[in-house]
Amino acid sequence: MAKSESEYRKDIIEVCRRIYRQGWVAANDGNVSIKLSQDVYLCTPTGMSKGYLTTDQLVKVDGSGNKVEGELNPSSEIKMHLDVFKNRPDVNAVVHAHPPTATGFACAGMALDECVIPEVVISLGSIPLAAYGTPSTEEIPNSIRKYLPSHNVFLLENHGALSIGPDVYNTYYRMESLELFAKIYLVAKQLGQINLIGEENVEKMLKLRQEWGMDTHYAGCRIDSKVIGEPQNKTNTDSGTKNINMSTDELVKLVTKIVTNVINQKG
Ligand SMILES: [Zn+2]
Repeated sequence: MAKSESEYRKDIIEVCRRIYRQGWVAANDGNVSIKLSQDVYLCTPTGMSKGYLTTDQLVKVDGSGNKVEGELNPSSEIKMHLDVFKNRPDVNAVVHAHPPTATGFACAGMALDECVIPEVVISLGSIPLAAYGTPSTEEIPNSIRKYLPSHNVFLLENHGALSIGPDVYNTYYRMESLELFAKIYLVAKQLGQINLIGEENVEKMLKLRQEWGMDTHYAGCRIDSKVIGEPQNKTNTDSGTKNINMSTDELVKLVTKIVTNVINQKG
């Protein structure tokens, strides 16, 4: 059964407190939103600490980001949230924060996409690095968009992290998984060695994912230069298109043959 608006308000406040307690934000950083209905969204206000928000300070906006209810103004990152909701109809919540270890990877220009620990391989697959964009502008949504069909967690270059999901707690947990993975990865790196899970073992987990009917917004993970697990969701523009490789010579021969055939048929 769907929750009431007041329950959703409490959920956002609870997630904001957790983000603050975890040290994933400083000052007024971070933002959280929930889809209340088609074209109505509840989000955190701009310029307020996430540790001390109250339910009445949350803001309601429409799909274009216009305030429809609330005294404060919506988060400056609302465009990023709305773009996710627009392009991923299955998503009901968006969480943005600056978890320090994951953000360290985002500042080092490193995606967390290798096959390292089973929980992450199964739940998230890989975490891509979305190219840097100026906060509050369309640049961030533009750089995230290409990863949206096949990922639920993203690193934002030189900035922070974003997670999306069917409900706000699940979305928060995805960011917890990201930050823990970043910490583990960093320790292994400091110890001087990261042993990856072998391809055969990853394949076994991909099979389990299928059997368990898990989220298909998934793109597998990487061993050296090989990605294990094809993207299961592709954008509409991608579906049915396949790239082919052909030399100029081969192309000229093919076109000549087709044209010759057409001329001969007419003759
Ligand atoms: Zn941020």
